[in-house]
Amino acid sequence: MQTIGLLGGMSWESTLSYYQHINQAVRQQRGGLHSAQVVLYSLDFAPIARCQHEGNWQQAAELLIQGARAVEAGGADFLLICTNTMHKVADQIQAGLSIPLLHIVDVLAAHLKTRNITKVGLLGTRFTMEQAFFSQRLFDSFAIEVVLPTPAQRAVVDQVIYSELCQGIIDEQSRQEYLNIINQLSANGAQGIVLGCTEIGLLVQQHHTNVPLFDTLRIHADAAVQRALHHEH
Ligand code: GLU
Repeated sequence: MQTIGLLGGMSWESTLSYYQHINQAVRQQRGGLHSAQVVLYSLDFAPIARCQHEGNWQQAAELLIQGARAVEAGGADFLLICTNTMHKVADQIQAGLSIPLLHIVDVLAAHLKTRNITKVGLLGTRFTMEQAFFSQRLFDSFAIEVVLPTPAQRAVVDQVIYSELCQGIIDEQSRQEYLNIINQLSANGAQGIVLGCTEIGLLVQQHHTNVPLFDTLRIHADAAVQRALHHEH
């Protein structure tokens, strides 16, 4: 079994889900007392979130590179950045490492492809929804089109992530707002909705809606287990 490297803490609420999901998947596949081999480096999220909101992505990248190098030094065979948003600086992080990065958009795209999905709604931070690094990679490399919520809805989705989900707050009214947005994206032609933020699965799960949901955390974690157990990409 390969050792999975996790660069987490962004936020730790979702890193907990990564750790749990990865270990559950290994137990499911290997049984008994088997568990995942993991090196986790969990960053303090506050300075990173500050850099994001100041537009200082270079400094954010440097903080992540330091953590990623610690994961590599700890013996990981490959690395997961446990947040969609910070994939904005994925290329810089990869350049600072000798182990490979398992890119969240690539494993999502592979998952969507096998299900013949070509048009998805996207929920995430405003950086993930509005900047090119996520949607453009899905479109350029995999011809998957993205439908976005309206600007006002995007503000709500983003605010709930940073002010509630990343702080461990699960609010029923926010869930209803997310579900309304999901329904509208579906009515606008999305075949399913990408939960493109690793905390959203804490608020909205498949049993809340008939619209297909694609949770990037679960897809990313499953791909990591697949790779660790079978050395597959
Ligand atoms: N975990 C979130 C994501 O997947 C948001 C936190 C962050 O800004 O990194 O994008």
